[in-house]
Amino acid sequence: MNPKIAQKPSHERQRNEELVIGTLHARQPLSRRGVAQHTGISYPTVSKILADLVATKVVDEQDDQYSGFGRPAKVYRLADENRSVLGLVIGPAHCELVVASCDGHIRDDSTCRFRTPRRFSTLVRTIAERVEHLAGGVEGKLMGLGATIPGQIDRESQKIVTCPNMHQVEGKQIGAELKRALNIPTAVVQCMQGLYLAERMFGEAQTLNDFVLLNYYGGLGVAVCVEGRLLTGVSGLAGEFGHTTVDVNGPVCGCGNRGCLETFATDKVVAEIVSRRIGRTIDVEELFQQDAQQRFDIDDILEQAVDYLAVGVASAINIFNPEAVFLHGRFLHLRETLCDRLRQQVRRRALAASFERCRIVPVAQRVQESERVGAVAAILHQLTVGRRAQELADV
Ligand SMILES: [Zn+2]
Repeated sequence: MNPKIAQKPSHERQRNEELVIGTLHARQPLSRRGVAQHTGISYPTVSKILADLVATKVVDEQDDQYSGFGRPAKVYRLADENRSVLGLVIGPAHCELVVASCDGHIRDDSTCRFRTPRRFSTLVRTIAERVEHLAGGVEGKLMGLGATIPGQIDRESQKIVTCPNMHQVEGKQIGAELKRALNIPTAVVQCMQGLYLAERMFGEAQTLNDFVLLNYYGGLGVAVCVEGRLLTGVSGLAGEFGHTTVDVNGPVCGCGNRGCLETFATDKVVAEIVSRRIGRTIDVEELFQQDAQQRFDIDDILEQAVDYLAVGVASAINIFNPEAVFLHGRFLHLRETLCDRLRQQVRRRALAASFERCRIVPVAQRVQESERVGAVAAILHQLTVGRRAQELADV
C-alpha cells in the first residue's frame, strides 16, 4: 500500500488538532462553537478534538464566568497559559534571548543580547548562564526553550549539517547539548522553519493549507506548506531556494556555485552593491536610516534586485501553486513603488492561472522580530502539537 495513503487519516487528525491549538493560541478562551467558527472544522469534530486535548492535558476546560444565566458554557484555553517559555535567536555575530508567555506574547523588557562565542562549548555555557539569569525573573513555571539557528539540521541525527558563518556549530547536536545543560525541554529549528511556525501559529497563515514563505533578508530561503504540511525533504533540508542558478556565469555564491538567486536578490546583496557605489560599507539597517535622510540614487540597484526576486516568487508560484507567498525582508520597503513593480514582474513570469489564485504579501514586520517569535513558536509547537503528534504516533 502507498504509505502516504495509509497515513492520511492520522495526518488529517493531526492537522485539525494543530489548527485548534493554533486558534486557541491566538484567540483563547473560546467555546466549542467559537473554535468551530474560527477553524472551519465541524462542531462534532471540534468537540472530539477538544475532549482528546483536555484528556491529555494540552488544553484546560473551564466554566465561562461571563455567560449569564443558566448552565455555564464551557470555554477552552491552553493549559500552560500562565507559564513562560524562552526564545533564543542564535546568530553568527550575536544571540538574543527573550521571555514569552505561552500565548506567544514576548515580554517587552525581557530581551537579553550577547555576542556569539566562537567556541561551541563556550556558546552552550554562555546560553546556559544567560538562561539561568533570566529564569530567576520569569513568571510561573518555565516550560522550555525554543531556538532558531541559521544552519541546516539533519532530521534524523539532529546534527547541524552546514551553518555558513557559524562553523563552530557544524556537526553538533546543539538541541541535545542545550537540553542537557538547561534540563528543560528544548527545540532548535532552522531559521526558516522558525519563521514558518511563527506565521503558522500567530500570523496570517493559520488557516492556509498551501503557502510559501520566502525570506530574502540574509540569504534567500523558503518554507513551503503543501496540503497543511511543511515540506521537509528526505532529511529535513528542503527549502534552499536561494541556490537555484539564475545566471550560469554570475557572481560566486557562498555555496561555491555561480549565479545563485541569492547573489542577486537579498537585503545583504543590495547593501553590498550600494556600499560599492557610495564608497563605504553599510548594512541594510544603516541603508534604511541613511536613505531616509538623503535618499541615495540607487533606484536602478533596487529595481534589479526586485526583478530577480520576482523570478524567485514566480518560480515558487509555478512550482507549488500556493494561496499566498509571504515575503520577509527589507529592501522592498525602501521605495513605495517596489511592491507594485514586484507584482508586475511576477505577473509577467508566472503562469496566469496560478498567479491569479495567489496573494503576494510583503510582511512589514522586521525579520528580527519575526525570528524572535519563531524561536518562541518552536518550543510552543513542540510542547503542544509536537507532543500530541508523538502521542498519536505511539498509539
Ligand atoms: Zn549558492
